[in-house]
Amino acid sequence: MNLSANSSISLSPKALRDGQNRLRASLESLKGRLISPEALLQGQQRVLELVARNASLKETLSEIARLAEEAFPDMSASILYFDPVAQVLRAGGYGRLPNSFAEIVEGMVPGPNMGSCGTCAFTREPIISVDVFEDPLWIDFVGLCKEYGIRSAWSTPLIDERNGSLLGVFGMYYPTTWSAERAIDISFAQDFHQLATIATERHRDEERSRYLATHDAHTGLGNRNLLIEQGEDIVNRAVSTGSPLTLAFIDLDRFKRLRQQFGHAQSDVIFAQVAKLIQQRLDCAELMVRFDGDEFVAFLPLPINEAKSLIEDLANDMAVGFEMAELHLQITFSCGLSTYDNDTSDLEMIIVMADEATRDAKRLGGDKIIIADQSLAARAKSHRNIRKLLDQAHETDAIQPFYQPIMNLTTGRAKGFEALMRITDEKLKTVPIQDLITVAEETGQIHRIGLKMFESACKAVADPSDPLKGLSVNVNISVAQLLKVGTTEQILDILARFGADPTRLCLELTESQWLDGDGAGRRALMELHKAGLKLALDDFGTGYASLNYLRSLPFDIIKVDQSFVKLIGQDRQADALCETVLALGKACGLDVVAEGVETPEQLKALTDMGFELGQGYLWAKAMPVDIASKWLTDSFN
Ligand code: C2E
Ligand code: MG
Ligand code: MG
Repeated sequence: MNLSANSSISLSPKALRDGQNRLRASLESLKGRLISPEALLQGQQRVLELVARNASLKETLSEIARLAEEAFPDMSASILYFDPVAQVLRAGGYGRLPNSFAEIVEGMVPGPNMGSCGTCAFTREPIISVDVFEDPLWIDFVGLCKEYGIRSAWSTPLIDERNGSLLGVFGMYYPTTWSAERAIDISFAQDFHQLATIATERHRDEERSRYLATHDAHTGLGNRNLLIEQGEDIVNRAVSTGSPLTLAFIDLDRFKRLRQQFGHAQSDVIFAQVAKLIQQRLDCAELMVRFDGDEFVAFLPLPINEAKSLIEDLANDMAVGFEMAELHLQITFSCGLSTYDNDTSDLEMIIVMADEATRDAKRLGGDKIIIADQSLAARAKSHRNIRKLLDQAHETDAIQPFYQPIMNLTTGRAKGFEALMRITDEKLKTVPIQDLITVAEETGQIHRIGLKMFESACKAVADPSDPLKGLSVNVNISVAQLLKVGTTEQILDILARFGADPTRLCLELTESQWLDGDGAGRRALMELHKAGLKLALDDFGTGYASLNYLRSLPFDIIKVDQSFVKLIGQDRQADALCETVLALGKACGLDVVAEGVETPEQLKALTDMGFELGQGYLWAKAMPVDIASKWLTDSFN
């Protein structure tokens, strides 16, 4: 080892090891002199406890720095950690050196001639600067050294041995030039290097898992978790300083169909291109996340009209199209914009408003940008309340099925029941069921609700006391529910768990939501039908693609929507539709149920037409299972 005054020394790992071996012999006596083994052990334990309880990295590294300074009385320690994203060194732990020193080294870029720490991070080799006043590595920092009383320095890289990456640098500064006796420090200091390595390694691992938890692996954008973590601060900051902030909710139009058409691998490639373009155009965003599936949320530090122009520019960029497998694809998006005001200044509301505006843009056919206004704010507030109400109802088990009989019009007896969702808590019973369902479908709460409803129906069917007297039960299922991965398995699992007879259960699928004829929804329905469950097409005549549905899906029952039944005998078109649906059902071998029968006149008109099944207030409203059971006994015994 050359210790001449005007040089710095780069230690190879081998040289270091040799030095250590030579010095190990004298170490025992040294330990006794500088710090007692007990104090050292206690100090190590303190550090490991800090690591174990996830104390901040700075706190842990400072504890290590102080411990090292105890062991080397004239030394000042500086532990820097490497930020792999920004590729800079960050101020970590200090003992004697003041904060002002930490502020100077914060953000140092590793490179040659960057003192011994910056150079060591660059070369990843230990470096000793025998006299910093003479050392070319320190040429830019002599003033600093004078200010802080540093004359020699020794820097050691902290390396993650699992992958060889740089974790940080352990710097030891001395008030005098480096002397040969100090060489003995090299071996002893290893204990402290190791502690610092453990702490920074652990921090790096945690940062990595935090990154994975808050980022979308595919696009590298933040995800919903990151939005929750940072969004509130962004909004609060803008509100308190009065600075402009627009939240843009961007939902790609018909991307799900593109996924179905081209498969995940190919559509992911396109998606990544789209994401990159959005990221580039909206690079002023304070935060941008992939919200869910094909949705992006960006926090733009702009007034809403400027944000709108920027999004229009993005739409123009996208209009150029995307290339995939020799195809030229046009992809558009629907965008909702919202900002804060006196009434709406919390993150959740701002997101809900932008989301609502996006839905409006979609309803208008997509490829639109809509600014959320006051009426939308009112709607968004009501949706938020409903969502909370549903959560509360779920927690208190206040969501229960009530059973409405489906009647055989020929015998006048009940043929089965439809399970309808009801809220049993009086305080929460403030919103019509249809509105609850609409919100639940939007928020995804429908999955929980739907499974609960199906579970309760299975329980009633499998109950040994047989409250529903062997009759069948129809349960409503939303398309959103059907399309969720795992729903089929969950339904079959519930059936098996209760040992319910699948042929006594029927799923009613409303026609008001689009279900692709050959996609995942169809496969799910086929599988459930194969397991023995019956299928009903609900609200027939009000929605999409009815005939196509009937052709491609194995329905057993059609339910004619109550809006037609209501007009029966009064409106020729309604009469014609009821007759036609009945004929269609009969021709296809399906049962046809008339929904919403309220009056004897409607019943007569229906039986005259040849309807055999009906449901409505004329017989009974939906009832709790015990009342439905009593109703059956009282009515037909
Ligand atoms: P739906 O499946 O068509 O259910 C029939 C609706 O008509 C029920 O409304 C029922 O109470 C009502 N109804 C029955 N007879 C009459 C009558 O004679 N006159 C009138 N005016 N109405 C009658 P409800 O319970 O408010 O449910 C509305 C819709 O909400 C349901 O329409 C269904 O689409 C949906 N829904 C209800 N429960 C569930 C559920 O558990 N899951 C899902 N996904 N949707 C549900
Ligand atoms: Mg129904
Ligand atoms: Mg219906």
